[in-house]
Amino acid sequence: MFKQSSFLILIFLVVITQLQAQTNQKVWTIAIHGGAGGTPSSLNPQKIAEYEKHLLEALEIGTKILSQGGRSLEAVEKVVVYLENCPLFNAGKGAVKNIDGVHELDAAIMDGSNLKAGAVAGLRDIKNPIMAARMVMDSTAHVLLIGEGASAFSKSMGLESVDNSYFSTKQREEQLNRIKESKESPNPGGTVGCVALDIYGNLSAATSTGGMSGKKWGRVGDVPVIGAGTYANNSTAAISGTGHGEYWIRRVVAYDISALMEYRGLSLVEASNEVIFNKISPMGGSGGGIIAVDGKGNIALVFNTAMMHRAWANSSGEVGVGLLKGEERIVKNGSL
Ligand code: ASP
Repeated sequence: MFKQSSFLILIFLVVITQLQAQTNQKVWTIAIHGGAGGTPSSLNPQKIAEYEKHLLEALEIGTKILSQGGRSLEAVEKVVVYLENCPLFNAGKGAVKNIDGVHELDAAIMDGSNLKAGAVAGLRDIKNPIMAARMVMDSTAHVLLIGEGASAFSKSMGLESVDNSYFSTKQREEQLNRIKESKESPNPGGTVGCVALDIYGNLSAATSTGGMSGKKWGRVGDVPVIGAGTYANNSTAAISGTGHGEYWIRRVVAYDISALMEYRGLSLVEASNEVIFNKISPMGGSGGGIIAVDGKGNIALVFNTAMMHRAWANSSGEVGVGLLKGEERIVKNGSL
């Protein structure tokens, strides 16, 4: 009898110690993107500095939340709100226009701890589509709301509404004119996304976009299609994509990365490389990339374009940022 109870106490102590070790690990990781594509020649040192500044400011919002023990879901939403409010990116303010000159915005968020997801598509008048996506996830029995219904729901939940012209910038107006004059083809670029792992081991992903410049009225891209441009599952990874959305939908990119990890045991980077270079690249289109984190805090920043605006940070104190392929700047190295 005595032996049996000591054994049970021993088991109990082992379990408690393991749980404590898990929470004491305090490993967190965050990665963000501000879109793939575009031409490097459009950048100059001043533009690069401007993009980097805003990427790092956005990152800092998530870093603060995660380092203070906040949840990855909060971190990814708040970071994307910042990027939506920044006119440099193709999401919220600064979003591209469709061929009729109207902004139609898509966004999605996913909680890897329970596989809950929320998304909106074709929103024309809600200032922060990612907040609408979060509310679809938290306050409805649905995953995806579109157009007028999504807008009415968001307003009923108290989200800020704006006139469609709020999203416009001179740069996007000029871009649409070039497309109309056939001097440029409809293209992706500037979409924003964030993926994060918190100290509780929870993975989350959020993505927001104005879609492809010059897209047809009513076109919906990969971003709000769960599994295409956005996906999170605690047992594999959190993924946010950017690129030529039609291909991302057809290849179910984000879920495919997760599935390769789950079913074939590939690492995060192997799975991401496999999907972007062996599945997306051969299909053509204008390409793009993904950012992803796994449950151990590994990061993948994989793209087949000349640029993907990106930044990352982790609990070891590393902070990095980059725009062009092969050119990443370590802003802070944890070991220093
Ligand atoms: N993937 C987005 C879309 O097709 C565009 C982008 O990433 O820039 O809607």
